[in-house]
Amino acid sequence: MSASTRIPTIALPFVSDRAKKTLDQVEQFVEKECIPAEKLFQAQLGEGDQRWATYPAVMETLKTKARQQGLWNMFLPKNHYTQGAGFTNLEYGLMAEYLGKSKLASEATNNAAPDTGNMEVIAKYGSEAQKQQWLAPLLDGKIRSAFLMTEPEVASSDATNIQLNIRREGNQSVLNGSKWWSSGAGDPRCSVYLVMGKSDPTNKDPYRQQSVILVPADTPGITVHRMLSVYGYDDAPHGHGHISFKDVRVPVSNIVLGEGRGFEIIQGRLGPGRIHHAMRTIGAAEKAIEWLIARINDERKQTFGKSLSSHGVILEWLAKSRIEVDAARLIVLNAAIKIDQGDAKSALKEIAQAKVLVPQTALTVIDRAVQAYGAAGVCQDTPLANLWAMIRTLRIADGPDEVHLQQLGKRENRARKDAVIEKLDWQRAEAERLLAASGLKLKSHL
Ligand SMILES: Cc1cc2nc3c(=O)[nH]c(=O)nc-3n(C[C@H](O)[C@H](O)[C@H](O)COP(=O)(O)OP(=O)(O)OC[C@H]3O[C@@H](n4cnc5c(N)ncnc54)[C@H](O)[C@@H]3O)c2cc1C
Repeated sequence: MSASTRIPTIALPFVSDRAKKTLDQVEQFVEKECIPAEKLFQAQLGEGDQRWATYPAVMETLKTKARQQGLWNMFLPKNHYTQGAGFTNLEYGLMAEYLGKSKLASEATNNAAPDTGNMEVIAKYGSEAQKQQWLAPLLDGKIRSAFLMTEPEVASSDATNIQLNIRREGNQSVLNGSKWWSSGAGDPRCSVYLVMGKSDPTNKDPYRQQSVILVPADTPGITVHRMLSVYGYDDAPHGHGHISFKDVRVPVSNIVLGEGRGFEIIQGRLGPGRIHHAMRTIGAAEKAIEWLIARINDERKQTFGKSLSSHGVILEWLAKSRIEVDAARLIVLNAAIKIDQGDAKSALKEIAQAKVLVPQTALTVIDRAVQAYGAAGVCQDTPLANLWAMIRTLRIADGPDEVHLQQLGKRENRARKDAVIEKLDWQRAEAERLLAASGLKLKSHL
């Protein structure tokens, strides 16, 4: 059964024939080209400092193959951008699930974070000159980029705390401050940083103090101090940089959209990008289910005279995983349809639902697969330990769960409280009226 025959029935009416064909191609490309190339990628990456200095050649081979098949830039939705492959968010969502099964597939098809979000920003808000200088080579997969918002000294889930200073001197902007968790900054091809900082720190409106500015990665005054690890993984050659800026000078024209518009940009950037992660995470969970199935049917490894698939509790893990992943997928696809029918702003609730639910679901499913492998599950011999570490970060990156839950809870309460209270009051009164009309009584305290 190919991927297009497994599209959930609810989503099917929204998927074009062209997208179905591409979806099947993506599945084949990931399963037959990307996953088998992962070991070669690791071997080419090598050891020590080399991991940050060169880039595995197999990636360029995969990129060429992907482009030949037209599997390129599928993430840019057709009703919002002209530069992409012409698919909707829903169609890309189905494809991204398969990309999420391999560490190489997103980059091989030029759909990798953080470039995707950065390309969206420049395509949506950038000037013609900015598009020519940075968007064109990013769309072409020639360079890579990083988004620098989070800072070591402040709680960055509240973006009004951001401190990096952007001071104007004539026609130059001068940057001072530090950033960390700058994903992608370790890649030797990372050429541009999108930096969020404060250009007007005393503005009365806390949401007008920030700007986003484009900074070439080799500008004097920038120091990349170190790469941060994720549960011990270095994530090379991508990496998560800790970077400082000391009197870094770039032209004022590098500011995106205009001074004081930084908040607007990050809100726009984090919309669709958030569900890209969720879409890929469904694929990661499916991969864990595949590894679970492989282990529980491994006849060489029996416990108490039976293969694991003969133990009821293990089949229950498989069944629960199937239910939970299928349910989470519907949440993601629903958010994608909602964005397609309006924009990311009109789908805030659905995006937040996907952002919170999907990593939690995937972590539960991956953990069951780890358990089924015993000690093998926590080491490098299966992809499960690394998958768990990667997905765990999604409960923090792009805003922690708690922030999304707080916003969801507030919105749900505000939108429904008056109507719910009014309805329940009416139903109570109506029940009393029915009782009184029948001459009967019931004791109730609510
Ligand atoms: C793997 C990875 C990649 C990343 N990539 C990037 C990147 O490319 N660019 C970038 O700029 N940043 C990146 N980040 C950083 C990420 O966006 C931040 O870590 C995140 O926004 C949280 O900020 P913080 O770490 O400063 O945590 P803090 O803001 O200090 O928050 C700490 C904790 O406080 C709790 N909390 C916060 N707000 C609330 C609330 N309202 N109610 C209840 N509890 C709350 C949450 O549990 C939260 O985890 C990345 C992070 C990771 C782990």
